[in-house]
Amino acid sequence: MSVVHARLAPSAAGMWGPGACPAYPRVAAAYPADEDSEEAREGTAAHWYLTESLRGVALAEGAIAPNGYPVTAEMIRCARQMIARVNEVCPDPAQRLIETWVPIPAVHRDCSGTPDFACIDRAAKVLRVYDYKYGHREIEVYECWQVVAYVAGVAFAKNIDLTDGWRVEMKIFQPRCYSKAAGPEDTLVLPGNKMIMRINRLRGAAREADDEKAPRRSGEYCRDCPAMLDCPAALAAIGEAMCVSRRGPECALTAEDRAHLLTYVRAAMARLKAADAALVASVTAALKSGHPAPGWYMEKGRSSRKWARPAAEVIATAALCGVDVCKADVAVTPLQALEKGLDEAVVDAYSVTAPGAPTLKPFTGIEAAKAFANI
Ligand code: SF4
Repeated sequence: MSVVHARLAPSAAGMWGPGACPAYPRVAAAYPADEDSEEAREGTAAHWYLTESLRGVALAEGAIAPNGYPVTAEMIRCARQMIARVNEVCPDPAQRLIETWVPIPAVHRDCSGTPDFACIDRAAKVLRVYDYKYGHREIEVYECWQVVAYVAGVAFAKNIDLTDGWRVEMKIFQPRCYSKAAGPEDTLVLPGNKMIMRINRLRGAAREADDEKAPRRSGEYCRDCPAMLDCPAALAAIGEAMCVSRRGPECALTAEDRAHLLTYVRAAMARLKAADAALVASVTAALKSGHPAPGWYMEKGRSSRKWARPAAEVIATAALCGVDVCKADVAVTPLQALEKGLDEAVVDAYSVTAPGAPTLKPFTGIEAAKAFANI
């Protein structure tokens, strides 16, 4: 099924939106969209099943989507949670906006799209926009510019002034992403005025992307850009990473290289650490329940004897027995000495206050953005 996308498509806002690559719409336009891959066809069919179900059409496993792909049991299972939520918040199918095309002039004249689901509760002044992702890669609603664009489009199409006491509820349903802390239903609720700030940020990025000379800016998102293997910016970034990974002693890293490399290594370590913790739990559970785990076994823990009574009681009892079990040669800390009643002047004379060693912390940006009131 061929789909005509707007030049600044909301579905690609992660590529050209705030902080991403303003050259993307111009560069990617020269490449045909790959909508015939197995994965793309499966995703299209899963979306079709969902939206038809939201319209009230009953479809069974094996039904054929317009792109010729059959509806699978997994598609039916995955769509359940979003269908249930929509039934709950908007029971009347006639009030649902399902894949309804909306222009999005608040972002750009060449921006338009079709939100999976939206509904408007004018009495409560709540605008809801939900998006369904059948893919596995984690997409946080907090950072999803696609949904921001859809909110702007629905608000425009339905003549809603978001600053007039409205609230916006955005959700991403992602049933096949098992790594999300938020789970398969990721929700963000913002007051209308904060939503407007986000829309304005997206409009700023769209304006930058409108410039025929907009620069290429590589990032993680390049993996989804059809131009990646022809793109000087992306190739330079790949080359830099390869060079950094291969550099021997004869090739000194600059301070900037080291900072970048540390960022990559930390990110990789964090992922590996998370994977390690999850795998340890899983393999441990498998072994404990008698399942094989090739290469792993449960070693018996080494036992150690500990006091089961308070130390003072132990010391006093031991003293009655003529045994000193108190570590008399170990001084308590200055703070503990103060607590014990030792004169502060004595503590001052016999102690120093050493400044704590500075700790290197990674700056990720998202914490700061969240701290600054969800803009
Ligand atoms: S590969 Fe990356 S930097 Fe190059 S045009 Fe695409 S998104 Fe921009």
